[in-house]
Amino acid sequence: MTIFDKFDQLAAARQALEENCGDFFNMVVDDIISATEAVVNGRRMILAGSNNYLGLSFDSDCIEAACEATRQAGTGTTGSRMANGTFSGHVALEKELAQFFKRRHAIVFSTGYIANLAMLSTLVGPDEIILLDADCHASIYDGCRLGKAEIIRFRHNDINDLEKRLKRLAKRNTNILVVVEGLYSMLGDRAPLSDIAAVKRKYGAYLLVDEAHSLGVLGENGRGLAEEAGVEDEADFIVGTFSKSLGAIGGFCVSNHQQLDLVRYASRPYVFTASSSPGVIASTRKALSILHTRPELRRRLWDNANMLYQKLQDLGFSLGPEPSPIVAVRQQDKEEALAIWNALVQHGVYVNLVLPPATPDGGALLRCSMSAGHTAEQIEHIGQAFAAAHRTDQAAQTG
Ligand code: PMP
Repeated sequence: MTIFDKFDQLAAARQALEENCGDFFNMVVDDIISATEAVVNGRRMILAGSNNYLGLSFDSDCIEAACEATRQAGTGTTGSRMANGTFSGHVALEKELAQFFKRRHAIVFSTGYIANLAMLSTLVGPDEIILLDADCHASIYDGCRLGKAEIIRFRHNDINDLEKRLKRLAKRNTNILVVVEGLYSMLGDRAPLSDIAAVKRKYGAYLLVDEAHSLGVLGENGRGLAEEAGVEDEADFIVGTFSKSLGAIGGFCVSNHQQLDLVRYASRPYVFTASSSPGVIASTRKALSILHTRPELRRRLWDNANMLYQKLQDLGFSLGPEPSPIVAVRQQDKEEALAIWNALVQHGVYVNLVLPPATPDGGALLRCSMSAGHTAEQIEHIGQAFAAAHRTDQAAQTG
């Protein structure tokens, strides 16, 4: 027996997948042309699964800000926020995030994953409870694992299930943190946030909303679902990432609770990893200001999202429950998903292939994400590629 024997099952599953879909494990972006196009494995492709919602990874002002900061402050901080890694840019970004979200306090983390690890493992302690939506992201689950709270799941977006559990837990007389996402990352559906806020208030719980996919996407000012649903006062903690609409990498938490600052001292994921480099912080600051100054990007994103959703719906595909910049195309099974994903690659379209157990309901998905940077021609091409891929798959099945 070797230390690697436990991987046997994984290796077999990988090999089976590789036989059907060799490209899946070897996708290398050789040359990135724009926010929506790249040369992948030597083939020019439309990027339709990159979460680059506003296309800001290629914004000239963001690039210039990153270059200037790198020249001034170097390529990396070489230390954690707690040691030598808090530069003036980190402090300025925290101030700007707090202003943007109209909150008193903000913390910047090295990634969104780390923000969730830090917040969930630190905020809620032994004898306290985290009540989370079953479809929450892996980083939320991992944050729960790292901490010592009791973890209870409620059925995805099921307000009755949430209330039933809150009611039952009330007699425990302890702190409860309800955790949900704004837009859910796999199916692009919204949390019923005003109902969630109402029951959270009724039972005296706290609420944390992960707006990773909704920052810059939802709300009149791009502050996310809490803004759109008019419940920002009820969201005790907003967590998010810089790696989607802001086109960089990093994470944050904002809150009006003044004790938020104490999380810095109590949280291992804040203390024991290096802080974001100056270039990343500078481009994020610029991107955050663009959310404010260029609201037309958000409108364009939604026009594009609605266009693709409508096109795929007209073609007869089974989609996520509501139009959103995440357009999830449900597949009958893993084999169909693999075949269509492969055919899309042949047609120069890159989307995310999502297989169980990563999918919410155990099905297989082809997950598209739209960008303000997509052109109408690119969206037309994506639709046509789906139609052609489906035809090829049907022909293979009947032939
Ligand atoms: N939360 C959610 C809901 C996410 O979808 C993601 C990333 N896909 C994260 C957190 C982690 O963000 P990051 O990529 O910045 O680590």
